[in-house]
Amino acid sequence: MFTHAEWKARAAALKLRNQCWIDGAFVPSLSGARFETVNPATGAVITDVARGGAEDIDRAVKVARRAFEDRRWSGKTPGERKEVLLKLAALIRENVPELALLDTLDMGKLIKDSSTVDAPGSAYFFQWHAEAIDKIYDEIAPTGGRDLAMVRRIPLGVIGAVVPWNFPLDMATWKLAPALAMGNSVVLKPAEQSPLSALRLAELAAEAGLPDGVLNVVPGYGQDAGQALGRHPDVDCLVFTGSTGVGKLFQRYAGESNMKQVWLETGGKSPNLIFAAADLDKAAEMAAFGIFFNQGEVCSANSRMLVHADVADEMVARMEARARAIVPGDPLDPASTLGSLVDRAHTDTVMGFVEAGKREARLVCGGERVSLNGSDAFVQPTIFVGASQEARIVREEIFGPVLSIQTFRDEEEAVAMANASVYGLAASVWTRDLSRALSLSDRLNAGTVSVNTVDALSAMTPFGGIKQSGFGRDLSIHSFDKYSALKTVWIKY
Ligand code: NAD
Repeated sequence: MFTHAEWKARAAALKLRNQCWIDGAFVPSLSGARFETVNPATGAVITDVARGGAEDIDRAVKVARRAFEDRRWSGKTPGERKEVLLKLAALIRENVPELALLDTLDMGKLIKDSSTVDAPGSAYFFQWHAEAIDKIYDEIAPTGGRDLAMVRRIPLGVIGAVVPWNFPLDMATWKLAPALAMGNSVVLKPAEQSPLSALRLAELAAEAGLPDGVLNVVPGYGQDAGQALGRHPDVDCLVFTGSTGVGKLFQRYAGESNMKQVWLETGGKSPNLIFAAADLDKAAEMAAFGIFFNQGEVCSANSRMLVHADVADEMVARMEARARAIVPGDPLDPASTLGSLVDRAHTDTVMGFVEAGKREARLVCGGERVSLNGSDAFVQPTIFVGASQEARIVREEIFGPVLSIQTFRDEEEAVAMANASVYGLAASVWTRDLSRALSLSDRLNAGTVSVNTVDALSAMTPFGGIKQSGFGRDLSIHSFDKYSALKTVWIKY
């Protein structure tokens, strides 16, 4: 790990890629338009970036289609694709400090996290999907007679991917690794707040041997580049991670255009249930991680703690002590414990929730916006207790370091409170009672239920939600389902 001064020196020396990446080359947007990307931790402009519009999306989709149809990638064997993607994983590992810096500068996350979690994670996810792809077998159906019915898994064609800013490199990777491993071509639209790591990743993919035109990156705003991708008549499948509201727009775009497949990973309001007989120390340690990691800008953040009334006071005191030990600091300082939020606009939104919370509940700690190094995009870790189920801070996704603690008296009440949400991404349960853990894992409406931990996640397990947290799964062998179709080939002999 570098020192604070070393990270700052490396940041100053970065060579930034700030054009569209189309057909294996950096090119300006066709209109020549550009937009600024800002470091939220200082307010300084990092660079200006090509602002892709509908015409750039169209150009990228045409290039991706040609690359798919001439089989320069889709026609390679799984083993050949594996080799290229393993090389990409190795290149990401060689460039971890640079990729980590790009995300930290773009969206304010701690360099401590981007250099140990995000960038190494991206390398591992590429490696995992690369290694999996030549171990998936097709099927022969049990028809009998003089028939041979093969069920083959084929790539879909051109994938559009639209991703958010909270884990810029990893959210792009979760889509790209299985899509490319399966043999598809991709047009990726990163979030306007954080386009830089995706552009560098595309360049590394080319260096690894990915043929030109297979991966294209068009930076730009959601309402133009994002919408154009969602509505493009020649995109076969649109994969999205982001807010529930925008996810619904992609369903509409698909319905109003070519009925492309749409897979959504959207918002969350995940409950964390603490029973009296839990290891309260461990529960508090992990609950603090679960809500304050990445400034709370995590879709599966445990933003609602539901604690048994018998241990509520004890738990609130433990959480308060942990929250007070986490203080906003320069994200480039490895000693900092909380970075900045992604931008001022999002900080205003989070503070709007905090102000609502002050009216709806009792503030335990935090609740203030913090100015640092010329930026006021920092928010103290904030805890509220005693909000009702109707309170905004209980119902709505805040996407910031804000925790609401409520109490329950028995398991029935805990389940009812936990499930009273439009979201269903993740849930956690803390108990030493095994049958309670299993029964609750059945009853909690969530894509992932973690027991005696929070937000359990790995390349080997599917990640995604139910209800308005979306559908379809990232990660694991199941992620390939989104990027492939089954084709039946029936032969009589
Ligand atoms: P967002 O929905 O505002 O933006 C996500 C992407 O959609 C960006 O690339 C953006 O440019 C694009 N977009 C915005 N408006 C658009 C439009 N009108 N048409 C087409 N594209 C548009 O989300 P965000 O603020 O970047 O990210 C935060 C959200 O992402 C949270 O709700 C969070 O829960 C969610 N998220 C979910 C997961 C998951 O796996 N379920 C993971 C990370 C983040």
